[in-house]
Amino acid sequence: MRKTIRWLTILSMGVASGMLALGAIVLLDAREDAWQQAKQASANLALVLERDIARNIALYDLSLQGVITALQQPDIDQVSPQIRHMAVFDSSASGEDLGSILVLNTAGSVVEDSTSIVPHTLNLADRDYFRVQEERPDIGLYVSRPFLSRLRGGDASIAISRRIPASDGRFGGVVMGALRVAYFQKLFEKLNLGPGGSVTLIGGDGRLIARYPVLEADFNRDMSNSTTFRKFAAAPQGSFEGASSYGVRRLYTYQHIGNLPLILSVALSVDEIYSAWWRKTLIVATILVVLCGATVALCLLFRREMLRRLAAEGALVEAADKLSVIAATDGLTGLANRRAFDARLRVEWNRAIRAETPIALLMLDADCFKLYNDGYGHQEGDRVLQMIATCIQKSIRRPGDLGARYGGEEFVAVLPNTDWAGASTVAEAIRSAVEGLDIPHAGSPSGRLTVSIGVAVARPLLGEAESLIVKEADDALYDAKHAGRNRVNTAGRDDPPIAMGLAEDWG
Ligand code: GH3
Ligand code: MG
Ligand code: MG
Repeated sequence: MRKTIRWLTILSMGVASGMLALGAIVLLDAREDAWQQAKQASANLALVLERDIARNIALYDLSLQGVITALQQPDIDQVSPQIRHMAVFDSSASGEDLGSILVLNTAGSVVEDSTSIVPHTLNLADRDYFRVQEERPDIGLYVSRPFLSRLRGGDASIAISRRIPASDGRFGGVVMGALRVAYFQKLFEKLNLGPGGSVTLIGGDGRLIARYPVLEADFNRDMSNSTTFRKFAAAPQGSFEGASSYGVRRLYTYQHIGNLPLILSVALSVDEIYSAWWRKTLIVATILVVLCGATVALCLLFRREMLRRLAAEGALVEAADKLSVIAATDGLTGLANRRAFDARLRVEWNRAIRAETPIALLMLDADCFKLYNDGYGHQEGDRVLQMIATCIQKSIRRPGDLGARYGGEEFVAVLPNTDWAGASTVAEAIRSAVEGLDIPHAGSPSGRLTVSIGVAVARPLLGEAESLIVKEADDALYDAKHAGRNRVNTAGRDDPPIAMGLAEDWG
């Protein structure tokens, strides 16, 4: 039972732990899913933005290349300014976020302007989109750093520029097209990245070009030394978790724009990526903990109840054992009582029938005990009965032997598997032990307290009742009394064989 309770306890603890473990696995899996989804969504977003920006810049570049082709026409200088303007900027892209396409001569002065036939008087030799083309003939398309446009009242812009080769191959000036930073802002602000998210466009040299949400301080900010930028520059695309310059943990997903020195980055707040997951986790974890707690609590209650019942059962069994001992014991002498004797005699008698073994019965009676009581008092008589009981108990040694109080001052002893010789020896031992107590008894002829014992031995046969041997012993006791008391009477052994099987081994 205790083992079962222990196993049940272990099992329920196991179930509770299993539930918790399963919950933890599922939640961790969901957390990983949230992360992967955010990563995938950012990557898709970055790719879509990259395509849009790359396509627009490629179209704008085609316009610049168209201008160069037009300027290289041999007779372009012979036509009127209007025709020339039309020819040069005919195929030029224009749009809300595109600034003017300008042609700068070798000194950096504006010589052609897509927005006006008469160009503005302006020298842009200090701009990087001019200087780089002048210094590096093989640069091709150049994307400038952000600048504040002089033509459009300080509008934040970047420019793309191409070198115009002179007929002899030397530097023949620069054609550039401005692109408003607002174009990127408008592109980015349509996205819903959550309050902690941002999109950033950075030049290949680490200069911040556009960012959403817009931060004034970010304009042209140099990020080339930041760890984030170094990671952006390391591969054409990728993602990583890092801390922003404002200390917020973010998932960065970046994408280089075509072959251009531009990097687009989509950043999502890690806290926001996990916020839905946290809410779910809180609910699931609460339910799980409550369920597991209830399981454990129920198990402990069940265990306590079972142990309590077990203890109560144990106490009951113990009490019943005690009761059965009390019910079988004589209160005065501590020997077995008459009831226990009757039961034991029946058992041993039947065993003797089965095993075909002898069984002996001694019947013992205190001599002149009435007189003892009369002379020494009833209490003293009780004490003597106890002493006689002790003598009986000490004289029967075998485990199967039973001494019992038959009633009043009469005692019996059942001796299973005992023959005449053994029974006589035990009876004589008891008799002499009582005599040896040397208890004065004025009413007795010997002057001491003595007992008389009748002995009977039987080899019972099937169908014979145990009352036969009781009567046999009683008769022997009666004879002992008549023969003068303080003796053992084994007279039965001289009797002729009778049906009860007192037949064998008479010699
Ligand atoms: P006998 O030698 O023939 O057996 O004489 P007796 O006096 O012993 O026999 P009797 O049967 O006349 O008396 C038995 C007495 O045993 C009567 C009673 O006073 C006493 N007796 C019986 N039971 C108890 C007991 O529990 N305690 C005490 N103190 N005396 C008892
Ligand atoms: Mg008597
Ligand atoms: Mg007597």
